Amino acid sequence: MTIRFRLTLLYTFILTVVLLLYGTAVYLFAQETLTDEVDRNLVRIAQEWRQETGKGLRGNTAILRLPEEELDVFQSATTFFMIVGTDGRVLETSNNLEGYDVVLDPTGRQTDPHFGTVIHNGQPLRVLTEPLLIETEGARTLIGYLQVARLVNNQTALMRQLRLVLLSTGVAAVSLSLLLGALLTRYYLKPLDEIAAVALRITKADDLSRRLPDTGRRDEIGRLTMVLNQTLERLERLFHARQRFLADASHELRTPLTTIRGNVDLMRRIGEADPEILDVVQDELERMTRLVDDLLLLARADTGGLPLQRKPVELDTVFLEVYRQVRSIDLHVDLIIDEVDQVCVLGDLDRLKQLMINLVDNAIKYTPPGGTVRMSLSKSDGTAVVEVADTGVGIPQEDLPRIFDRFYRVDKARSRHQGGSGLGLSIAKWIVKAHGGDIRVESQVGVGTRFIVLLPVMSKQHHERDRANGRALPATASTQPGVSD
Ligand code: ADP
Repeated sequence: MTIRFRLTLLYTFILTVVLLLYGTAVYLFAQETLTDEVDRNLVRIAQEWRQETGKGLRGNTAILRLPEEELDVFQSATTFFMIVGTDGRVLETSNNLEGYDVVLDPTGRQTDPHFGTVIHNGQPLRVLTEPLLIETEGARTLIGYLQVARLVNNQTALMRQLRLVLLSTGVAAVSLSLLLGALLTRYYLKPLDEIAAVALRITKADDLSRRLPDTGRRDEIGRLTMVLNQTLERLERLFHARQRFLADASHELRTPLTTIRGNVDLMRRIGEADPEILDVVQDELERMTRLVDDLLLLARADTGGLPLQRKPVELDTVFLEVYRQVRSIDLHVDLIIDEVDQVCVLGDLDRLKQLMINLVDNAIKYTPPGGTVRMSLSKSDGTAVVEVADTGVGIPQEDLPRIFDRFYRVDKARSRHQGGSGLGLSIAKWIVKAHGGDIRVESQVGVGTRFIVLLPVMSKQHHERDRANGRALPATASTQPGVSD
């Protein structure tokens, strides 16, 4: 659930609770006020009756039959009057209740005055029941009940309307809050989305020189942007320092290596040293030179100082050249070509050759004697597909995502023993990416490994255009080997 959705829901929930409380309070208050008014009215009518009519009450219930003209006072259409005997019989009614012999509020016959609301003929009636008492020889005797009632259908209608108004305004307010909440949170959180999108672009492009745009805000989001930009700046500085160090160190190492190589050659010619020791020194020297060369290549690629040629390359020719070159060495495995299609790509011949050598070299290195390494070059849907598959030791699934990282080696001892530095695949990946392609790996421990390289095939238009003007493709920061993995 997004923050935006959660915030909107929370605001709406709070508003709904507040509106419910408020609506209930208003409704109850209105109902109380209206009922109070009716009740006071009923009490006043009852009082009037007592003053005008009830003053002559004696012990005999018969005298409760009041003269007609007095009952007429209560003839108004909405006010009713009834006298009920202690036995519950209707003794007298106002003219507007003529012929009516049902007690208006049967529950009202109590020792104290009682208010009740009843429904008569589908109409709501508010009824006041007062006990009628007379004083006989110092004692008070109950001789009947007076019931005064008023139609309260107006009040009920009013309350119904109020309910409707409260409900409709409540629903409207909640809907509006949902809508405004969604729009406002979207507006306020939009910069966060933008920051995330830019940060993602920076990560994807592997370009630490990019910065998040200044929103001009001085709030939390403005501060977040500022802090992220400071972090990016610091990261960029550290990254550059690392690149410089790598480039300087590998460059500096080349000179002494050349000197040592010269001296080893000299010692071999003079014949002063043991040839076996010189062989060991020579091997280590070669390994060291390869490592330094790889490091220098990566360092140059990092700093964009390694331009790639962008020329038409007949990939099948390079493929066969690599095959012949590797075959010329005394191999402990079978090297087989499955398929070679004629494919032309736009790129750097030397780097493409290096890419294939790295893959075939690894396949041979990590395949025990008697195994097979198969190479194939095919074309499908405008893509050149180079595959190098072996029946070697394989790579565990958990290591697969990291094998293109610099210096990552599954089995360090084996790799070092075989002259590996853990840079071959990161260089391979960089070459593939710099050519706009992709590299994948499938492997199963103990069964074998298959590397699949996909490269865009050169189109006819490219062919024509590039023949006219041969260009060089610079290795940009976005194609740094191993950095993006
Ligand atoms: P290295 O110089 O160590 O071979 P790479 O970058 O070429 O470095 O390869 C990284 C690691 O990936 C190797 O150390 C090895 O563990 C693993 N690897 C590469 N290719 C293969 C393969 N064909 N079969 C098994 N493991 C391989």
